[in-house]
Amino acid sequence: MPLEIFGVAESQFRLGSFIAIFVVMAILETWLPRRKRRHSRTRRWTTNFAILASDFAAVSLVTIAIPVTAVIAAMWASDRGWGLFNMVDLPFWLEAIIAFVALDLLIWTQHLITHKIPILWRFHRVHHADHDLDASSGFRFHPVEIIFSIFVKAIAVVALGPAAIVVVVFEAAVNGSAVFNHANLKLPPALDRFLRPVIVTPDMHRVHHSEIRRETDSNYGFFLSIWDRAFGVYRDQPEKGHDGMVVGLRDHQQSGPEKIGWALLFPFRK
Ligand SMILES: [Zn+2]
Repeated sequence: MPLEIFGVAESQFRLGSFIAIFVVMAILETWLPRRKRRHSRTRRWTTNFAILASDFAAVSLVTIAIPVTAVIAAMWASDRGWGLFNMVDLPFWLEAIIAFVALDLLIWTQHLITHKIPILWRFHRVHHADHDLDASSGFRFHPVEIIFSIFVKAIAVVALGPAAIVVVVFEAAVNGSAVFNHANLKLPPALDRFLRPVIVTPDMHRVHHSEIRRETDSNYGFFLSIWDRAFGVYRDQPEKGHDGMVVGLRDHQQSGPEKIGWALLFPFRK
């Protein structure tokens, strides 16, 4: 029987929550924009949605050949009694919290590594090349990076053995959070200050998209903001301010990143 969450199939839950968060963010950033856009929204959205479509196509093809996702890995580990949580007897709520926090640390670590290992940075740069940031930047990831991420999560899930439902909620939360923290959204300062000790806000994550490398190499969090502080790579604000900072890659500020062909082929160029 397919996994259900809140009475709907997990695939519908993921898609529904993703679309709902995207629509809300798209409306809010139109109403309360943080920065002036360099490119028209239509132009960038065409490219970022085309990248998302290529991600769906690539993941569908790969999972036909190798049917592995984080959720499948969780069910597989549970059937065999593999993974830490399948060997200890903890209350479900405690297991869920520990698993959620552990998976968030995994995503943080994976993001850090994609900045440090040259072959991974080649693919992750497609995300950083975006000249503007908005809700659509939250899913602008090269298909190779998406597939790499699926395998990393699946391996971690087999080691950890969390309930499949926790994995679904975690993935939906991280995807929704990515749409939120890339939004070109001017949060009221008091709300930013309230959320920031625990959750990555748009102003916090924007620092990570600065063309200044030392700023790019900070604020790696996708959902919880605690890891950047814990590991000493937290930056409160960009040096040039949110209006003065330049978003994107220093060597690629000319036309290119807003085109689909450029974005998909960028990792393969010398
Ligand atoms: Zn990054």
